[in-house]
Amino acid sequence: MQKTEPIAAIATAPGRGGIGVVRLSGPDLTAFMDGLVGKRLPARRAVVSDFRGMGNEVIDRGIAVYFPAPHSYTGEDVLELQGHGGIVVMQLLLKRCLELGARIAEPGEFTRRAYLNDKLDLAQAEAVADLIDASTAQAARHALRSLQGAFSVRINEFIRELTELRAFIEAALDFPEEEVDFLKQVDAEERLTGLRKRLQAVLAASRQGKLLREGLHVALAGQPNVGKSSLLNRLAGEDLAIVTAIPGTTRDAIRLSVDICGVPAHIIDTAGLRESHDPVEQIGIARAWAAIEAADAVLLMVDATVGETEADRAILRRLPPEIPCIRVMNKIDLAGREPAVVKQVGVSTVWLSALTGRGIQLLREALLELSGWRGDGEGIFLARERHVAALEAAGMHLDRAVGLSRHLELFAEELRLAQTGLHAITGQRTADELLGEIFTRFCIGK
Ligand code: GDP
Repeated sequence: MQKTEPIAAIATAPGRGGIGVVRLSGPDLTAFMDGLVGKRLPARRAVVSDFRGMGNEVIDRGIAVYFPAPHSYTGEDVLELQGHGGIVVMQLLLKRCLELGARIAEPGEFTRRAYLNDKLDLAQAEAVADLIDASTAQAARHALRSLQGAFSVRINEFIRELTELRAFIEAALDFPEEEVDFLKQVDAEERLTGLRKRLQAVLAASRQGKLLREGLHVALAGQPNVGKSSLLNRLAGEDLAIVTAIPGTTRDAIRLSVDICGVPAHIIDTAGLRESHDPVEQIGIARAWAAIEAADAVLLMVDATVGETEADRAILRRLPPEIPCIRVMNKIDLAGREPAVVKQVGVSTVWLSALTGRGIQLLREALLELSGWRGDGEGIFLARERHVAALEAAGMHLDRAVGLSRHLELFAEELRLAQTGLHAITGQRTADELLGEIFTRFCIGK
C-alpha cells in the first residue's frame, strides 16, 4: 500500500526566517534536480545553486542537498532546498516542485514513509512528533531517547522473551505426555513472573512519561479578586493574565501552560464562580464548571484575609469527589501568616502570597505530588496514551496467564495476546487506520 509519488513540502515553520527549507521525497528525483538546479547533484553534499522556475528564471539562490535512497530520512531519494526563509520565496519553490510533478505532502508523510521503509519503528516515529511538540526541556530529552530507540528496545526485549516462551509452550503442546516436565525444565512460571515484574516497571515509567508529554490539567477556581490572575502570572513568571481589582472581569477562561519543575501544567483560570444574573457571566460560569470537571486537579483559591466563604464551601461541595483539590490561602502578606502546607485527606491547604511569591514553591511541590510525579529519572519513557493502554493490556494478559500453566492452550493464548499488544507499540502488524491517526497529527514537512 506504499505511496510512491514524489511529495514536497515546506519543512520550516511558516513565516520569516533566515533559512527556509523545501523538502522533496520520491522514488526518483532526477527530473526535479534537472528542473530546479539544472544539474545532477552528488550524494549528500551541500551544493550552492540557483533554484529555477518554469521559465528558467532564478527564484532563489541557496543550498541543495541530495540524499539518494536508501540513505535518507524517508528511505527514498530526498532533495532538500535550503533557500531564504521568506513566505513568498518558499511558496514559489514549492509551486515549482508541484509543476515538476510532486504533490503536497500530507502531515507526517515524510516520517510515514520512513516508517514504511523501516527507517524507524512506530514508537520512534511518534517520538519525532513528541520531540517537536515537547513543551519542557525534560520532555524533549525523553522524546529524543525514544527516538534513539530506548523505548523500542525494551518493548522488543519483551516480545523476544514472549516469543521464546511461546515456542516452548507450543512444543509442549505437541508432546502432551511430557508437558509438566517440559514446563519445569524451561521454568515457565519463573520466566512469567520475571516478565510481569519488568513489564510493570516499564508501565510505571511510561505513566510518568505520559504525564511529561501531556502535562497536568489544572483548573483554578475561586471568588473574584482572591488573586487568581496574580497566581497565574507568578507561576508563568511573566505578566500574562490581566490583573484587575474589579470583581468579575475574568469572564473568559485564560489558559496558560507553565513549567512546574519540568512537568508541563496547563492551567485554566476559570471565570470568578459566583451567582450571577448576567447572561454573559452565566455562560462563563458554565464553562468554568466544564473545565473543572475535565481537570486532573483543582486549585481553589481563597483570600486569607477574608477566609473561606460560603461560596467557596459551595464550590468544594460541588467538586467531583475523584478530582483532587488544593485549597490555596492567598495574601498571607496581608493576613500576617507564614507559608505552609497542611495536608488533609481529600483537600490539602497551601498558604502563600501570589503578590510576593512566598510559598509558591510549596504549591508547585504539592501539585507535583498530587500528579504522581516521582522525579525526573533517566528511566522515563515519553509515552502516549496508546502505549500505556497497550502495556496495560499486555500486563493483564500476563496476569491472567498466572495459574494457567496446567491449561497449556489457555496459557499459550494469553501469552499470544500479550505479545500482540506489544507489537502494536512498535508498529509491527499495525492496522492502517491507526497509522493514519498517528501521522496526520504531525506537522507538514516532517
Ligand atoms: P482575581 O480576580 O482572582 O484574578 O484576582 P487578581 O489576581 O486580579 O487580584 C485581585 C487584587 O488582589 C489585585 O489588586 C492584586 O494585586 C491583589 N493580590 C493578589 N494576590 C495578592 C497577595 O498575595 N497579596 C496582596 N497583598 N495582594 C494580592
